[in-house]
Amino acid sequence: MSDGVIVVGAGHAAGAFAAALRQGGYADRITLIGAESLAPYQRPPLSKAWLKGETATDELLLRPLAFYAEKAIELRLATRVVSIDRAGRRVALDTGERLGYDRLVLATGSRLRPLDVPGVHSRGVFELRTVADAQNIKSALGPGKRLAVIGGGYIGLEVAASARALGAEVLLIERESRLLARVASATLSDYYARCHADHGVAIVLGATVAGFDEISGSLSGVRLADGRAFACELALVGIGALANDALAVAAGLDSRGGVVVDGTAMTSDPAIYAIGDCTSRPIPRYRRSMRLESVPNALEQAKQAAAAICGKPPPKPELPWFWSDQYDVRLQIAGLAIDVAQQVVRGDPGSGRFAVFHLDAAGCLQALEAVNSPAEFIAGRQWVAAHQVIDPARAADPALSVKHIVDPLAPGAAAGAAPA
Ligand code: NAP
Repeated sequence: MSDGVIVVGAGHAAGAFAAALRQGGYADRITLIGAESLAPYQRPPLSKAWLKGETATDELLLRPLAFYAEKAIELRLATRVVSIDRAGRRVALDTGERLGYDRLVLATGSRLRPLDVPGVHSRGVFELRTVADAQNIKSALGPGKRLAVIGGGYIGLEVAASARALGAEVLLIERESRLLARVASATLSDYYARCHADHGVAIVLGATVAGFDEISGSLSGVRLADGRAFACELALVGIGALANDALAVAAGLDSRGGVVVDGTAMTSDPAIYAIGDCTSRPIPRYRRSMRLESVPNALEQAKQAAAAICGKPPPKPELPWFWSDQYDVRLQIAGLAIDVAQQVVRGDPGSGRFAVFHLDAAGCLQALEAVNSPAEFIAGRQWVAAHQVIDPARAADPALSVKHIVDPLAPGAAAGAAPA
């Protein structure tokens, strides 16, 4: 028996990878080493259903604990890897132990970008990454509590929606001139600004947080750089995520804001793979490499690394996709809005059901944002993957059903498959 596979991290990517490795027939030792004390769990519900009390902590687990015992996957929880000795193929743990590996998989995830302003360490200022963070927020939230959300990305908006459901007063502060500026179109930003305002969230855009006020160590308010001040006893900071690449960098692996991997999840060291939020990975559909912070990405790279280590061909590349649930609104995004020359809106955003088609200069669908529009999302995934050329007038025509947007007889239509 070899030293087997060591996985650094025990999050969503790590759990999915270990399962895929066993499923692929890997028979040697598999060890997951994770800093948190919980077995691999799903993070998406932490800002949504779990925060609102609609799911229990046990339901967050990717798999029951018995699964790891049955599959002989060793979980070393509440334990950190502190360094990697690439020449000796060993990792050092914070317990003082050293463990040898045949293959190492980095699934170290991301951490929240810190907000470096006075008062940020006051009691009542939270971040949301782990189930422990979520527990703290959940126990502090409640009817009448005043919550300032710093950052209008997915975390900020999802927590704002959950906090409103729990009866809290919510003020949302975003540095950009629109919500979701990094990840979505202006049409979506405007829609979400209206949606949150309709649910009673006060939104301040284009604002910089100068600091938090405290009384005896507890949060009492937030101050903006322009002098405005707002009273609150709770704050959530969700201003973006950074790759946890410090271990990889210290070991001399290539990193460009994320551990550089190829399409098999292999790093610049053939004995070391990296998966999930911590990586910068090639995205064949867009012929470029970048970080993707999403569960579908973690699952895809878990499969890539497992296939490579089992000596199997790489799985078919998948199209990036994302989702977010806020109030009764389900957002689904297929692809990345890269090289976009034209946007076409299908449906009326005022109705709460619409889609935004992102076309490149040749009319090819690059990405599709679907709000409460699952049929458009399902079709869009296929069309984006197939480089389908879309006629803007047909896409915008609400009288045409989704499956008829692509006319099978139109030039360019053969490139894609019309969905059923
Ligand atoms: P995000 O989507 O990057 O949004 C953070 C927002 O905060 C950005 O618009 C950013 O603007 C703004 N910001 C930065 N500094 C600020 C400041 N000092 N004051 C006010 N606003 C500021 O990141 P996130 O919402 O924190 O999410 C973190 C990670 O979790 C991401 O990887 C996200 O994709 C993931 N996540 C995903 C989901 C989902 O897919 N449904 C849900 C939750 C979390 P600038 O661009 O100017 O910095």
